[in-house]
Amino acid sequence: MLIDGKAIAQRIRNEIAGDVEKMVQEHDLRPGLAAVLVGEDPASQTYVRMKRKACAEAGIESFGHELPADIDQESLLQVVRDLNADPKVHGILVQLPLPDHLDEEQVLNEISIEKDVDGFHPVNIGRLSMKGREPLFMPCTPMGCMVLLEEAGAKFEGANAVVLGRSNIVGLPAAMMLIKRNATVTVVHSRTKDPASMCRNADILVAAVGRPKMVQGDWVKPGAIVIDVGVNRVDDPTAKRGYRLVGDVDFEAAKDVAGAITPVPGGVGPMTIAMLLKNTLRGAELQLTKAKA
Ligand code: NAP
Repeated sequence: MLIDGKAIAQRIRNEIAGDVEKMVQEHDLRPGLAAVLVGEDPASQTYVRMKRKACAEAGIESFGHELPADIDQESLLQVVRDLNADPKVHGILVQLPLPDHLDEEQVLNEISIEKDVDGFHPVNIGRLSMKGREPLFMPCTPMGCMVLLEEAGAKFEGANAVVLGRSNIVGLPAAMMLIKRNATVTVVHSRTKDPASMCRNADILVAAVGRPKMVQGDWVKPGAIVIDVGVNRVDDPTAKRGYRLVGDVDFEAAKDVAGAITPVPGGVGPMTIAMLLKNTLRGAELQLTKAKA
C-alpha cells in the first residue's frame, strides 16, 4: 500500500481551515504564526514562503520578520521577546539554520513554550522524553510521521520500531514519540554496527538519515510499515532541473516487500507543513484556555 502523504496532508489542512473559521466565529480569535527569517538563504526563503502560503490557505494570519544576516544576538532575542508578548501571535518559528555568529540554542530557549510551534524548545523536548509528562508542542516532521503510521494502520504497542537517524529535529523526537506509544524502539546512527540486520527486525521503520536509497529492499521486513523522511538530490540529466529527489529508502526495491510505504516526494514532506498549521491552531487554543482560567 502506498501511503499518500499529499492527500492526507490536504485533508488535514482542510479540517484545520474549518476549525480556524469556527474559532473566528465563536471566539473572535484568528490564529497567527510569526515566521522569523534571518539572512537571504534561498532554501530558507522558499520554506518560509511555503509556510506563509499554507497559513493563508487555512485562514491563519502570518507575520513575516525578515532580518538582515548580520543582525546581532541581542536584537534577534528582542524580536522573539516582542513576539512572545504579542497576543495576535500564537506560534513563533525561527527558520533554521541561523548564520554562524548567532547562538541558535539561546534563540530557541527564548521562544515561549506556549508558542513553540516547531516543538524545539528544550522544555517541550524534555517533556516529550519523560514518562508521565506531555509537551505542549511536538516537532512537526516526526509528528507527521506518526500520523502517517496511524493512517497506515500501525499497531504501536509491542511493535519493533527502528528509527534511522538521531537528529534533534527528526530521529530523536520520532524515537521518543514511538516509545510513548509503547513500541520497542531501536535507534540506528552512523556508529551502529550492521544497520541492515536491525532494520530487518522492524515492524515500523522510520528512515531519517539523508543518505539516498540507503535502505535496500532486503533490509525491509515483509509487511513492515516504512516511513521515508529523507529528501536527497541525485543527479539526473533527463530531469528538467538536472536532478531528482529520492528518499533514504530504495522505493522501487522496498515497495513490494513493505506492507505500506511513503513515496518521496509526496510522503512525509507535505505532512510537515500540515503539522505546523495544526500546532499554530493549538497555540491559539492554549491562549483561549488560559484566558478562561
Ligand atoms: P541530520 O541532522 O544530518 O541527521 C542525520 C542522522 O542520520 C544522524 O543521526 C546520523 O548519525 C545518521 N546517519 C548519517 N549517515 C548514516 C549512516 N550511513 N548510517 C546510519 N546513520 C547515519 O539530518 P536530519 O535533519 O535528521 O534529516 C534527515 C533527512 O530527512 C534529510 O534527508 C533531510 O533532508 C530530511 N528531512 C525531511 C523533512 C521533511 O519535511 N520531509 C524534514 C526534515 C528533514 P550520527 O548522529 O551518528 O551522525
